[in-house]
Amino acid sequence: MQCEWLGERVATVDVTRAITNVIHGKEDAGWGPNAVFRFPKQGGTGAIWKGVAALLPADKQLYKATVTSINKDAKQVVLADGQVIQYDSLISSMPLDVTLSWLGKAEWAAGLQYSSTHIIGIGVRGSCPHGSKCWLYFPEDNCPYYRATVFSNYAAANCPAADAQLPTLCLADGSSAADSSSSSSGGPYWSLMFEVSESSFKPVAQQPVQLGGTAGTWPAVVAETLQGAMATQLLQPSDQIVSIFHRRLQHGYPTPSLGRDAVLAQALPWLQQAGIWSRGRFGSHKYEVANQDHSMMLGVEAADNILLGIKELTLAHPDIVNAQKNTSMRYTNSSRQKQQQ
Ligand SMILES: Cc1cc2nc3c(=O)[nH]c(=O)nc-3n(C[C@H](O)[C@H](O)[C@H](O)COP(=O)(O)OP(=O)(O)OC[C@H]3O[C@@H](n4cnc5c(N)ncnc54)[C@H](O)[C@@H]3O)c2cc1C
Repeated sequence: MQCEWLGERVATVDVTRAITNVIHGKEDAGWGPNAVFRFPKQGGTGAIWKGVAALLPADKQLYKATVTSINKDAKQVVLADGQVIQYDSLISSMPLDVTLSWLGKAEWAAGLQYSSTHIIGIGVRGSCPHGSKCWLYFPEDNCPYYRATVFSNYAAANCPAADAQLPTLCLADGSSAADSSSSSSGGPYWSLMFEVSESSFKPVAQQPVQLGGTAGTWPAVVAETLQGAMATQLLQPSDQIVSIFHRRLQHGYPTPSLGRDAVLAQALPWLQQAGIWSRGRFGSHKYEVANQDHSMMLGVEAADNILLGIKELTLAHPDIVNAQKNTSMRYTNSSRQKQQQ
């Protein structure tokens, strides 16, 4: 990997403070660039983007449609159902390596590396024993995940209400609950979200594994995650598991590899000359500007660039945008009304 991406992405550790906290058993939530953040009370992270979508004209939105090809000369996007969409300028958030392969530039696509990610969600009966912790990193090899998030701490509605009656699927050690009839009982509930990276250097076990009770069959990484959660003391063996979620994302993290910038320097202008602004987490493939706030601004600035020729700050200068808080650009209801006039 190269080191250009580090910038503001990696919080500087105050070693003395960290050791003092460990000695005194003190929680410290106040360091790093994202020590304070906002989160929707209802609807999880997706609620932010559903809210943004609701500000935009419904007749300009189309979901659950798969793009199967782009004809850059005819300026057409072809959908799986055969629909052809004509464009003047195209902002694409599809993975750049896919777009480049489609357009005959497989050699550039090969220079863009990424890792896949497994997301595992575990719902637990009981009160959360982890105080106000939000996310924790695990460099040790006694668990498959690199990060665990106490997702129930983000919003009460991320968990079922305490009076919801849910059956125990299995215990945290993967065995059946003593009451194998799995009759339902109440909460409270709390939850953990685990992230496991996968690449050619770090394969992930995905063969089907049967968990106890009524938990059913899951990729082996789910069982390994439960084992890891006990090894790292996030769960106790007898904790009652009431829900399990697993999803694999082929494109998880864009790797800031040594050859990346050389590919981007050729590929993005080449696409732009053909009227395609490839932007977003994997659209522009820059890890240092690939979070949600960045991806939103990459889109805003791409539109400003197309309409007004304004330079795209986030894409060109991650170091500048990451070092400051945006207070200058605001999208308000009044600016929306002006647009509609
Ligand atoms: C494990 C993980 C944890 C993260 N944690 C955080 C966090 O804590 N905070 C944060 O701000 N960000 C986080 N992110 C990053 C966040 O998810 C991204 O910033 C955001 O999703 C990027 O938005 P995007 O629109 O650029 O790309 P995406 O959300 O990837 O959207 C691209 C879309 O294109 C679709 N697509 C691809 N190919 C086609 C096709 N052929 N036809 C039609 N559609 C297609 C995909 O299905 C996808 O929906 C995390 C990401 C991961 C993977």
